[in-house]
Amino acid sequence: MSDPIMSTYKRLPVHFKRGEGAWLWDTQDKRYLDALSGIAVCGLGHAHPTVKAALCQQAGELIHTSNLYGISRQEELGATLTRLSGMDKVFFANSGAEANEAAIKIARLYGHNRDIDSPAIVVMENSFHGRTLATLSATGSRKVQAGFEPLVSGFVRVPHGDAESLRIVAQNNPNVVAVLVEPIQGEGGINIPPDDYLNQLRDICDANEWLLMLDEIQTGMGRSGRMFAHQHNDIIPDVMTLAKGLANGVPIGACLAHGAAAEVLGAGTHGSTFGGNPLACAAASAVIDVLESEQLAERAEQLGSKILADLADALEGVAGVEEIRGCGLLIAIELDRSCGELVTTALEQGLLINVTADTTVRLLPPLVMSDEQSDEMVNILAELIKQFLSTDQDQ
Ligand SMILES: *Cc1c(COP(=O)(O)O)cnc(C)c1O
Repeated sequence: MSDPIMSTYKRLPVHFKRGEGAWLWDTQDKRYLDALSGIAVCGLGHAHPTVKAALCQQAGELIHTSNLYGISRQEELGATLTRLSGMDKVFFANSGAEANEAAIKIARLYGHNRDIDSPAIVVMENSFHGRTLATLSATGSRKVQAGFEPLVSGFVRVPHGDAESLRIVAQNNPNVVAVLVEPIQGEGGINIPPDDYLNQLRDICDANEWLLMLDEIQTGMGRSGRMFAHQHNDIIPDVMTLAKGLANGVPIGACLAHGAAAEVLGAGTHGSTFGGNPLACAAASAVIDVLESEQLAERAEQLGSKILADLADALEGVAGVEEIRGCGLLIAIELDRSCGELVTTALEQGLLINVTADTTVRLLPPLVMSDEQSDEMVNILAELIKQFLSTDQDQ
């Protein structure tokens, strides 16, 4: 039988048929511990009863009407998100890339409204913002861009974590209207900038009337140890995008805006057929209810610290381990060599992990993972890494 699916993903040889919390079972009934959460999506784990109940209830009432009409579920979710973030307004889309497209359109229109004919957005090296033409152009990875030229113009690139480089851009480029940045780079390898980086960016943006636009698609929804990662810094961005963890797997994206940025998009300037439909919004509201009532951001911070300490213990003195770093449940083990094959050996051992940026083992466990499950994760992984580093022929 020929495979009808386009080969955009190099898939692992497994099909999952059900899940519960941090566990997954494949079609052979083999059990796996999920330390990836569908790439930071299923923060509440699999088959969460509150999300299931909200979806079943909403599907039995109304799935979709269109944005031509008022949508109570959307207004309810919008009110919750603005309450939690201090932002003023929200536009709902269906994915992270779409949320970022909305942010990019806000920045450009904001620029044109200020008579800047060719507005530019500062973006970072090693960033990831999505796979649409504008978002892959904003992404700092040649692998993502190659073959899709001509790229969308109007992006200026600087190193992530280096506020000084933005001050230089401010002196030299009058077309800049915004900065788009991940508070912690996800796909780029869990790259954590200096503690005061976002505060410095906030100051630079204020001084130059630029919009500070935070891509919190991977860092948001409690994963970093705060509901939104920028809340570690006590700032409010002008624009923030969300997606992955927002509805635990039901497709949704959100672009929130504050102050002047919230007034930029008017009737007819942007839209989405599915965006913010009752089903997706009901799921997201259920997710936020659980995040708040079970204090899962605090749990992410606490479990993340435990995992970092346990990994440091288990891998102490192991040659080839360059760094163990993390923030909440965004965790990386940096090795001194390419380690993509670890994903397959972990799968064989019943553990789902990811390798990104070639040499970085990335863990994005569900926020509901128990201490016992995290112990099992660390034990399996530490053994695999030690074995890999001692037998790998590349070194
Ligand atoms: C995953 C991701 C995106 C893209 O989201 P999609 O839903 O795949 O379009 C954008 N930015 C960041 C930081 C991401 O992690």
